[in-house]
Amino acid sequence: MKVFKFGGASVRHAAAIRKVASIIKLYQGEKILIVVSAMGKTTNALERVVACIQSGEDFREELLLIRSCHEDVMRELFQQDHRVWQLVNREFESLVSRLKPEMAPDQLYDQVVSTGEMLSSHIVTDLLLAEGFPVEWIDARKYITTDNTYREGKVDWNATEKNIRPLKSTLDEKIILTQGFIGRNPDGFTTTLGREGSDYSAAIFAACLGAESVTIWKDVPGVMNADPKRLPDAVVFDELPFREAAEMTYYGASIIHPKTIKPLANNNIPLFVKNFDDPSLPGTIIHETNVDHIAPLIVFKDNQCLVSCRVTDYTFINEEQLSFIFQAVSELDIRINVMQNSAISFSFCIDFREDKILKLVDRLAKQFEVYYNTGLMLITIKNYDSKLFEQYRKMPGIILEQSSRSTLQVLVKS
Ligand code: ASP
Ligand code: MG
Repeated sequence: MKVFKFGGASVRHAAAIRKVASIIKLYQGEKILIVVSAMGKTTNALERVVACIQSGEDFREELLLIRSCHEDVMRELFQQDHRVWQLVNREFESLVSRLKPEMAPDQLYDQVVSTGEMLSSHIVTDLLLAEGFPVEWIDARKYITTDNTYREGKVDWNATEKNIRPLKSTLDEKIILTQGFIGRNPDGFTTTLGREGSDYSAAIFAACLGAESVTIWKDVPGVMNADPKRLPDAVVFDELPFREAAEMTYYGASIIHPKTIKPLANNNIPLFVKNFDDPSLPGTIIHETNVDHIAPLIVFKDNQCLVSCRVTDYTFINEEQLSFIFQAVSELDIRINVMQNSAISFSFCIDFREDKILKLVDRLAKQFEVYYNTGLMLITIKNYDSKLFEQYRKMPGIILEQSSRSTLQVLVKS
């Protein structure tokens, strides 16, 4: 069986959703499980709803906007009396009834933003049904069990596998369609797997079902060695080893969610990244292989923050101090993107999230003088050649630089 994942861009409007149906048609007779993201920029819009709730502002207007976007699409795809209207209506009602302002912020976040996937999954399912496909809609939260970490749920693999396995027999007769990005914790609340987490959901279902492959359908021709919007001469990789792809995601290549590769590589399930608009293009295959020469990969990661801790007396940075810093970072669930130390200071670059930075600085200030710079961009050049190495090292505005034999990283003021 195959797992297909359609991202937000692939279900962003009625024509795109019809395209999903035309792609499924190409695979007639195959066993398929489909994972869908929220439509277009719905998750961002739902994040604005969360922000309104949390600041005590009226969130109804934002929610109405989301609703009317979905209704526009539904009007194009369905009659007014189609059951999908009820299903969608029920999702909005259920959302409002579950909103408890006293909920912890991250918990509330997950209850709200998960709605995007619920909506799109109903709409896509019902369109496929209308086109004659035998589709069964399932609620991913009944299958993906996570711990209680909101916004970044950690999968309980034993429970999840036990839940998902029985779907095998359903796949003998039906195409299964479900939501990406969401799961449920033992307390019965919805959790999310991290932004862009639908790819990871596809990998989870694939690993638990022993799928023959996963295909991510995207609005690009495959995995490219740079963002073509930034570097117009970017090229598509025909194939990539799992390891290379995993490292790319670590450095911030946004093509695949970072957690996606591991379950696939462990189960030797190849991952195809294919073009939604032209399924006949070969795309990229990510699998267990050796590639002799890999084109240099250039990743731009915006919205970075450099935190520097300086010792306040005349001691040097030592292991005990490093351990204090790492403990604070890890307890706040922060990921370090690059780090560097000197005799008297330790600097590290992280994604900027104001609430987290403030908490972190507060803790670090107990032992250090702490400075931080925001509005930075981290550029990683993996498998660089000498020309790229020189070009990026000479960029203006570099405030940190680091290189190994294969990788150069520069942090610049953007
Ligand atoms: N809808 C979620 C997001 O935009 C998950 C995904 O698209 O993969 O982050
Ligand atoms: Mg997406």
